[in-house]
Amino acid sequence: MAEHRVAMFGGTFDPIHIGHLRSAVELREVLGIENVHMIVNRLPPHRETPGISADDRLAMVRAGVGDTPGLIADAREVERDGPSWSLLTLQSLREEYGVNARLVMAIGMDSYRHFDQWYQVEALFDVAHVVVIDRPGSDFSPSQALLNLVEPRQVDSVEALFSAPCGHFMRLTLPSPMDVSATDLRGRIVKGQSIRYLVPEQVEELISQQRFYRAAE
Ligand code: ATP
Repeated sequence: MAEHRVAMFGGTFDPIHIGHLRSAVELREVLGIENVHMIVNRLPPHRETPGISADDRLAMVRAGVGDTPGLIADAREVERDGPSWSLLTLQSLREEYGVNARLVMAIGMDSYRHFDQWYQVEALFDVAHVVVIDRPGSDFSPSQALLNLVEPRQVDSVEALFSAPCGHFMRLTLPSPMDVSATDLRGRIVKGQSIRYLVPEQVEELISQQRFYRAAE
């Protein structure tokens, strides 16, 4: 039997939007992945958007994922005490799926910019592959430190990526890049503008019912 193919797609998801969800669906199709774990980051309390707790962000991710095949709204970072380093999260996925599973950490182009400064970044490659998804408006010239980190690990095909359980790096342009960001959405809500079609209907309903992101009245 072929090995499991699994991905972690982490984020603040403040709120989750169609850029995240469509990327996860297409990542799954392009890489032939069974499960994409949408992992909600736990932020230190002083960094939370006023009124939007990790539990509320998780509720929006659950609403957005709904019954989408192969997407999992994953609470493990929210529920874990201590620092929520990606390395620890990947290790817990590795334990769950086993040593032979092909494990991918997917990040958007903007998150990639300072990737060389992440916690124990070299060790990440001992647990997972790293796939960077192109995002409109996020192109940049990588620093030498970033190139030194990724170039020796770079592959150009899905076959090469999954020739080992971990350790490779790949850039990916998905079929439907979307210029949508959570920052822009929060700004629209504060101004009373519509976010329709930029988030799933269930997420829009939750935001409106709970009055998330509205200025205090
Ligand atoms: P903000 O605008 O607040 O920074 P965001 O829209 O970038 O939020 P995050 O929760 O920070 O959302 O993103 C989680 C992950 O999803 C990151 O790796 C980010 O690069 C990626 N991502 C976010 N939006 C898109 C998009 N439109 N296309 C591809 N990747 C995206």
